[in-house]
Amino acid sequence: MKVTVIGTGYVGLVTAVGLAKIGHTVIGYDVDPRKAALLQRGEVPIYEPGLAELMQECRQEGRLLFTDEAELAYREPELVFIAVGTPPKADGSADLTYIEQVCRDIGRYMDHDAVVVTKSTVPVGTNDHIQGLLQAYARGGTAFTVVSNPEFLREGTGVHDFFNGDRIVIGTSCDRAAGLLEELYAPLGLPLFHTDIRSAEMIKYASNAFLAAKISFINEISNICEKVDADIESVAFGMGLDRRIGPQFLKAGIGYGGSCFPKDTKALVQIAGHVQHDFQLLKAVIEVNNKQQASLVKKAKEVLELKGKRAALLGLAFKPNTDDMREAPSLAIAEQLLEAGADVIAYDPEAAENARRVLPEQVQYASSLQEALQGADVAFIVTEWAEIVELPLSQYAELMREPLVFDGRNCYSLEEAGRHDLYYCSIGRRTVA
Ligand code: NAD
Repeated sequence: MKVTVIGTGYVGLVTAVGLAKIGHTVIGYDVDPRKAALLQRGEVPIYEPGLAELMQECRQEGRLLFTDEAELAYREPELVFIAVGTPPKADGSADLTYIEQVCRDIGRYMDHDAVVVTKSTVPVGTNDHIQGLLQAYARGGTAFTVVSNPEFLREGTGVHDFFNGDRIVIGTSCDRAAGLLEELYAPLGLPLFHTDIRSAEMIKYASNAFLAAKISFINEISNICEKVDADIESVAFGMGLDRRIGPQFLKAGIGYGGSCFPKDTKALVQIAGHVQHDFQLLKAVIEVNNKQQASLVKKAKEVLELKGKRAALLGLAFKPNTDDMREAPSLAIAEQLLEAGADVIAYDPEAAENARRVLPEQVQYASSLQEALQGADVAFIVTEWAEIVELPLSQYAELMREPLVFDGRNCYSLEEAGRHDLYYCSIGRRTVA
């Protein structure tokens, strides 16, 4: 099938490459000429494991090309995937500016019927709005059918998730469009779930809100564990053995971040508010997460005066295996440290370049973990990259001026911490001193 994917960010690029891999002819279109130029040269503008190799393979087979020319992008596709950003506005609701721009472009450049598939996360009712806009913008006689097909991939495992997703949700009342999507995705052999358009939109928000709730729940339990001398790792393991609960998303830490959970939880509170429903539970999830992001520095302040101290910030991306800094807990932590008067020396294996754009300019950058730790008075583990998890604790003791370690991701066992001459404070567990 001939497919155009609009927006070649984390979702659009993986979708474009994945669809090409399963045999479709795909154009990835982006308004950002820098991104398009990189992709045309075969370079991947984001860090996503496995994506570069797969992209290269599909390009060589001639089924994948990239452009910033709208005429080319919209000329022939039977299916147009919308994968542009829907960032939060100041009040938390989703900004639909980019979506609306795409609708205008479709109306302007397309002179044949097509199915328009919304992958971007959009508030309930938006696909009806998109359908209305397309009808208004369409040239005489051209008809578009809108399908909601929310995306569930996780950054860092995006390629794997494309081929191994738990389900593909197809929201439409049009049998022909549903059939076309079934045919498109058939080579993946994944479970398809057909539903109406608004339920599909809600499935995405409800799923993310539920996962965020699981994280805030376990973080609250970890806070209580610290006070009653219980161990969150044992508690989470014991809970996860219950199949009704499951072990996933029960990892206590310094809160969720990223481009989805913070934005989608706030947007769902807004969606509920618009129909006069006060989503108290979700508001608490967000509040708990905000507090959790402040918890590590708060603990450090109880032990040392941060003013004038050299603080190593280990890991900046919102999670390992991505360079995405959107709403990363490291942003809040860096700010808290600077506010307390500390000198911040940060390290991340992939996200440093993006971090420079969003972190305060006082933050300095190290080119290795060892360089960040050298002479530090205190260290904060923020992202559990493999190289951070695998760094022997002995190196903290050897390299730091004062080996005070605040581990926001519980990377080390307490037994291991006990074997070294350092102060080790983690989440929901006894402090080793
Ligand atoms: P992103 O910011 O990485 O990429 C969006 C891309 O769209 C950018 O490259 C931008 O230049 C391009 N763009 C903007 N307007 C355009 C236009 N008019 N025409 C063509 N290109 C345009 O965003 P993302 O992280 O890929 O997210 C995209 C959507 O998918 C969002 O709604 C997000 O909530 C949702 N989503 C994201 C993830 C994730 O893990 N990132 C997972 C599931 C769903």
